[in-house]
Amino acid sequence: MPDIDLTFIGTGNAFAPGGLCWNGFLASNRYLFEAPPQALMSLNKLGIDANELEAVILSHHHGDHFLGLPFLILHWKYMGRTRPIRIVGPRGTRELAEDISARVYPGIFDIHFEIEWVVAEPGRAFRLGGLELEPVAVKHDTRLDVSLGYAARLAGRRFAYTGDSAICDAILDLARGAEVLVSECASRDTTIDIHMNLVDDIPRVRAAMHPDSHLLLTHLGPGVDTHGLAHTTVATDYERYRF
Ligand SMILES: [Zn+2]
Repeated sequence: MPDIDLTFIGTGNAFAPGGLCWNGFLASNRYLFEAPPQALMSLNKLGIDANELEAVILSHHHGDHFLGLPFLILHWKYMGRTRPIRIVGPRGTRELAEDISARVYPGIFDIHFEIEWVVAEPGRAFRLGGLELEPVAVKHDTRLDVSLGYAARLAGRRFAYTGDSAICDAILDLARGAEVLVSECASRDTTIDIHMNLVDDIPRVRAAMHPDSHLLLTHLGPGVDTHGLAHTTVATDYERYRF
């Protein structure tokens, strides 16, 4: 079986503690989960051509997950993209992205490639080329329309991503089903009602997972470590992990 191949373009929470890049990762260097503000810079630093991306998959509309999109579109427009790109996100993603991008770069949508906007609806699985995704609604900022996590299958392997969320049944279901779970861990022991912390929540997530499955922590606050949990890794900016 092929590896689950994940490369982190950033691992920090919204406050970029200690200079961490904002959270996002690539699956098999083709599918970009999240568009944090520095996404294009991080791809360039890794030597990954943004024109090679098949899709960008967004969990929700907070700026640390979203505001890199105008730079990616700018790159595709001026750096020779010709084939379609898929941009996946909760309902309202297209409207928000078009509004912000066209305001900060007028004319940005005079382009020679197609953007296929895909609305991710909780519970409705779909396929992007070789990647199967099932979005789930998670427990995050209720002032946003909806926030998503994703169960994913690529080349017969199963991984999942929590997006930003407090602990909830949807998160534990993602944990149970994944060979690799990428989970937010926004603080060490501070209780934030829209996020998970290392001390109270992550042990419950780990306990829900198969013992041989691997847990990767990201969207990190200061002081997050593995907390002695088995098969658990604190992701590092620009690091590639294969399982
Ligand atoms: Zn958020």
